[in-house]
Amino acid sequence: MRLAQCFVALLSTFFCVSANASDWSILHLQGRDYVTFSNVAQFYQFPDYARVNRTVSLRNERRAIRAQAGTSDLYINGVRFFTDFPLLGSADDDLISAMDISKIIEPVLRPHRIHGAHNVETVVLDPGHGGMDGGATNQWGSEKAFALDVALAAREELLRQGFKVEMTRLSDKAVSLENRVAFANSFADAVFVSIHFNSSSGGAGIESYSLAPADVASNASDETHPSVTDTQWAAGNAQDPQNIAVTAAVHASVLSRVAAFDRGIRHARFHVLRGIRVPAVLLEAGFLSDPAEGQRIATAQYRQQLGVAIAQGIQNYNAAVNFKSNGGSFAVAKTTLPPHDRSITEPLAPDAPSAQLSSEEPSVSVSAGD
Ligand SMILES: [Zn+2]
Repeated sequence: MRLAQCFVALLSTFFCVSANASDWSILHLQGRDYVTFSNVAQFYQFPDYARVNRTVSLRNERRAIRAQAGTSDLYINGVRFFTDFPLLGSADDDLISAMDISKIIEPVLRPHRIHGAHNVETVVLDPGHGGMDGGATNQWGSEKAFALDVALAAREELLRQGFKVEMTRLSDKAVSLENRVAFANSFADAVFVSIHFNSSSGGAGIESYSLAPADVASNASDETHPSVTDTQWAAGNAQDPQNIAVTAAVHASVLSRVAAFDRGIRHARFHVLRGIRVPAVLLEAGFLSDPAEGQRIATAQYRQQLGVAIAQGIQNYNAAVNFKSNGGSFAVAKTTLPPHDRSITEPLAPDAPSAQLSSEEPSVSVSAGD
């Protein structure tokens, strides 16, 4: 099948470039290709590997991965990702699908190796909704207004950092999803950030989305549209690794700067992600329906923080994909240049909590990476 060939091709690419580091041993389980976490530890050079009660922890001096068989929760440097396929457990080890290695772990751990990723010149900010479409509301205001305000704060910060910035809307007007996508696609060397807020009783926290890879079902937390069963390739899939990288960078940056619950990074087929031809993230920056979070979002200061965090996330992404090691293979780089690359989730390294966390309680999930 196309899928299996794709996994094998991807994994053997990794293997070829680091033949001295380790090999992949692929296991076929439940109709899919899986690898063990000890294999992951060996391949990515995590000297510390532990497994207790079906929870595996991988650590090196700069990174940490944690995962539990039977769930879809994968933590990289304390940032929560939802795997595309469940993590399995065997008697000896936990296992992760080859798809999740190639679509999450590889681009997040080694963003500088993403093929075709290049310097970001333009950031296209997309405040969700507008005009007659107000999006979610609470007693203090509407999603469309809050999202625009966050985007304006992000724009200011990005301009200060030297990026060009374009906005799909600058005022309270309706813009179709098609036009947002077409607008973003008109800029070369761009990234696209769509900004939204959630609303749902009982929900709280931040979640981020990148386009679901082909052959992977959407795992949106609140999926209501029919595309949940659609697993077709879309134009945006041409940059799957960049998509998850920029999503992780923005998500991690936001979490490290505001005290919010980490609802994780998920894959979905939202309209604005499908047709985009530049790296794209859709951020749900909190729940208007949550009494505490909704009230915080209603403050200009918090929206300013969100905007600055988004801008910092883009800068982190750009630095990570452009970081050049001293050449050579992964294994050589590792011995000659210890911090040989940058992970876009680095600000959340669990043993080095960010000094920029607010004085409020840190997110449970961020510290849960330990
Ligand atoms: Zn929305």
